[in-house]
Amino acid sequence: MNIMEVLKHITAVQLILLSIVINVCLFFLSIGCYLLFSRLSRNEPLQGELQKVTRADIRLSVLVTGCNALVFIVGFSLWQMDILGVSDSTNIFLIAIEVIFLVIAMDFLMYVFHRVAHLPLFYRLFHLRHHQHQSTNALSLFVLHPAEALGFGGLFVLVLFIYPFSYLAISIYLFINLLWGTIGHLDKEILPKRFSVLLQSGFLGTTRFHNDHHKLPHYNYGFYTVLWDRIFGTLFTAGTDEKDR
Ligand SMILES: [Zn+2]
Ligand SMILES: [Zn+2]
Repeated sequence: MNIMEVLKHITAVQLILLSIVINVCLFFLSIGCYLLFSRLSRNEPLQGELQKVTRADIRLSVLVTGCNALVFIVGFSLWQMDILGVSDSTNIFLIAIEVIFLVIAMDFLMYVFHRVAHLPLFYRLFHLRHHQHQSTNALSLFVLHPAEALGFGGLFVLVLFIYPFSYLAISIYLFINLLWGTIGHLDKEILPKRFSVLLQSGFLGTTRFHNDHHKLPHYNYGFYTVLWDRIFGTLFTAGTDEKDR
């Protein structure tokens, strides 16, 4: 019996426990990577002073981790009920194509979702909490309104209905998502400066890219790439007119 067959038949209690364990591990993995990358990076800090970690941030991070666990349970249950298809393909070429598709599709959907979150009403109701971190810290990725966490998770579950993605592609995408969210909220670029400037002007969203969004909320709505900001004219670059700030 392979792992997919075993997982298909786990009970509701086992699923809840599995989801909590996975999401708590991902939470601490993000914090661990944040601290490690901050320590290893030799670049100058992007922020004057790091955002202080407050008790409210810790409580909200725990709640958002709970929301992520809930999304996992919903997605997993849909798969167990055969409403959502997941393949067990181990074809490396197919997995690579699926991961690239998931990254580009989610990048676009999150760009749209993020721009909607910046409309005045939604901003006040939901997104303001994330932007209370004008500079960032190890918890910023998890300092979100719970509705936003459920919304991002719900978007991903909807995308999974497009096609039966491989469980390996889904796992790799979720790992990239966590890593990118962590890197985006660092206070230093992790790559040498000339390389990160090259990356930002090219395709990938870097630490500076998302840091600039926290400083200048009307720019850089994208997440993994700068592609959609470039297409829709919301990319902040060194050349962006000062009056636009
Ligand atoms: Zn952020
Ligand atoms: Zn924002």
